[in-house]
Amino acid sequence: MKKQNIDWSNIGFGYMPIGERFVSYYKDGKWDNGIMTTDSTVTISECAGVLQYAQTCFEGMKAYTTCDNKIVVFRPELNAQRMEDSCNRLEMPVFPKEKFVEAICKVVKANADYVPPYGTGATLYLRPYMYGSGPVIGVKPSSEYEFRIFATPVGPYFKGGAKPITIKVSDFDRAAPHGTGHIKAGLNYAMSLHAIVTAHNEGFDENMYLDAATRTNVEETGGANFLFITKDNKVITPKSNSILPSITRRSLMYVAEHYLGLEVEEREVAFEEVKDFAECGLCGTAAVISPVGKINDHGNEIYFPSGMDEMGPITRKLYETLTGIQMGKIEAPEGWITEIE
Ligand SMILES: *Cc1c(COP(=O)(O)O)cnc(C)c1O
Repeated sequence: MKKQNIDWSNIGFGYMPIGERFVSYYKDGKWDNGIMTTDSTVTISECAGVLQYAQTCFEGMKAYTTCDNKIVVFRPELNAQRMEDSCNRLEMPVFPKEKFVEAICKVVKANADYVPPYGTGATLYLRPYMYGSGPVIGVKPSSEYEFRIFATPVGPYFKGGAKPITIKVSDFDRAAPHGTGHIKAGLNYAMSLHAIVTAHNEGFDENMYLDAATRTNVEETGGANFLFITKDNKVITPKSNSILPSITRRSLMYVAEHYLGLEVEEREVAFEEVKDFAECGLCGTAAVISPVGKINDHGNEIYFPSGMDEMGPITRKLYETLTGIQMGKIEAPEGWITEIE
């Protein structure tokens, strides 16, 4: 396979329209078979459900070139399941899970020349998404939908090493107790924009959101789950019904327990406890883990012993083990890796 002539190590995390994408239409109560197209634009009704009432959800995942030169995707069934959960909560039709995985493979295969080579740190980002495309003026679910998957190459998340970031405890809430925080809905991101722009203007990299009801427990950031390491090397992640169930976080917890032999706990984490942890990281598909060096709570600073220069030692082990599994250097648990034929 001849690769595109791109400076892979120096592309950022941005959108670049490439080759082919998958499109399937839902009409009269059923999905069509779907097609691959080179058209990177969308034409829909001015009154589409997505445009008027934000009826849309999405997924995010990556295709990698492994050390033995195979192209693989990581646990796509979990993205398919999570999209099903999002669709159910948003009264959207489910795109069948097997077809979701098939379409992912099709998109990767059609754009194989854009899957960055092994060793560049770059990957092919995949964006499955669905939206109400039929007109709605009264508030109700759309009668027509589009499910699409596009791909875009993205550069290494950390250029020149993963520098710990500084986050602030947000005054805004991300998700209500019985709201939509647990699904990957576009609306969760629309309302997070003001909070993240505010944080950036104040010089912070990210927001830490607390639970909306009591403002005492840690939830997550706008797009990544928290992992904490205790001083006796236990791996802890917050449990809450309004956290988005990160596939990276679930995979890291498994790796911690079964590959590194660490004790793991998913439980409520009081913000009060955070000052006693040894390491803190944010997990999601984009970065796998971003180390957090410092948390600012209204002027009160919490520094983690791992410091502002590099990842803490346990965070690093977790990062290296999971990326090793994704890159084919470490044997993966059964079913985690789907090879693109
Ligand atoms: C997508 C997302 C994550 C990360 O999930 P991954 O499956 O690991 O990519 C975490 N939090 C929020 C709010 C998200 O939308």
